[in-house]
Amino acid sequence: MESTKQMAVIVQKFGGTSVGNPDKIKAVAQRVMNVAKEGNSMVVVLSAMSGETNKFVELAHAMQEQPDPREFDMLLSTGEQVTIALFAMAVKAAGMDVISLLGDQVKIITDASHTKARIKSIDTELIEKYHKEGKIVVVAGFQGVTPDQHITTLGRGGSDTTAVALAAALKADVCEIFTDVDGVYTTDPNMCKSARKIDKISYDEMLELASLGAKVLDIRSVSFAKRYKVPIHVRSTFTDTEGTRVVEEDELMESLPVSGVTYNKNEARITISKVPDTPGIAAKIFTPISAADIVVDVIIQNTREGGWTDMTFTVPLTDYDQAMGIVEKVCADIGAESFVGDPDIAKISIVGVGMRNHSAIASTMFQVLAKEGINISLISTSEIKVSCVIAEKYTELAVRALHDAFELDKATPTEEH
Ligand code: ASP
Ligand code: MG
Repeated sequence: MESTKQMAVIVQKFGGTSVGNPDKIKAVAQRVMNVAKEGNSMVVVLSAMSGETNKFVELAHAMQEQPDPREFDMLLSTGEQVTIALFAMAVKAAGMDVISLLGDQVKIITDASHTKARIKSIDTELIEKYHKEGKIVVVAGFQGVTPDQHITTLGRGGSDTTAVALAAALKADVCEIFTDVDGVYTTDPNMCKSARKIDKISYDEMLELASLGAKVLDIRSVSFAKRYKVPIHVRSTFTDTEGTRVVEEDELMESLPVSGVTYNKNEARITISKVPDTPGIAAKIFTPISAADIVVDVIIQNTREGGWTDMTFTVPLTDYDQAMGIVEKVCADIGAESFVGDPDIAKISIVGVGMRNHSAIASTMFQVLAKEGINISLISTSEIKVSCVIAEKYTELAVRALHDAFELDKATPTEEH
């Protein structure tokens, strides 16, 4: 059957490596124009050229130890202005109509939390006007403006959120996130050869994967997409193959109990031993840690006989030294016997909405690790995730064993439809 191409509103976002030099920008422009020529209304969101934003961060720190947040945003937002202008020139050179717009021109209104602003509203009027004129609209990612005209940025990696937010506001048919990999994988392909590209994944699974460190999509953009039901397609800038679609759970056909295996080596474990087991002890330990802006992940408390308890938890590796310093003080305060830290750990997680209907998934995971002789020191679970903390040196072994055991190398039933 000959499909009649329908005119659609399509948001396409290209990351820094996709627009890293003039030739790449020209190639991206060509790619966008091909889709525009089919009669679609295009909104293109661009990041800065790869490495540029990092350069600005360095420059800012050369001026001021703690750069002023407002001026920091003024500087960091400029990288995207460069790419959208160059992109527009490339399109014009090829004879199509296009206009580049900054966040404040579109009226991407944010709160005033400089360097991590949240989008409050987006005005679609200007974009729709230009679409009616047949223009490709290219918008600077990662930036917005406060109601009183201060330029803000959305936090590093924020261009994904710009794209999803624009797609939500415009009720776009799809938000395509173009990047340097061809989708979301069942696990890290560098670690496990049989890793497979996932065709469709739910918002919740993607949220778990992103929070566990999968870098293909910025986590804030996924929660935005979930809230506004924006269909996302993560795909490669450099090929035409289908990538991974992030969709609502009920759009998934029957799926395997586990969708992906991930690992995170950037955490450290701290154990405080023989703490007096009295009300308020957890607050005494964790209040100073959170006051230092350290995010604690897995926490386990063991009760000992005689009114004592042990407390074990994980912190980001980058905050490990600081956390150990705080714990030393707290231990003296609360009269704990001792404390010990281990930075050489890894958190291995399995994620899948299928776990909701399969009760034995966690125990299968434990058995698989046991069979490999890997000791589990901490466990945490959510409705669609099981995480185990193990010694870092077993990461690769654990990932491969779990990937095998849950048969993630095999195509899911979804793909056969
Ligand atoms: N250019 C910004 C950054 O490097 C935003 C982005 O690329 O998404 O963080
Ligand atoms: Mg990114």
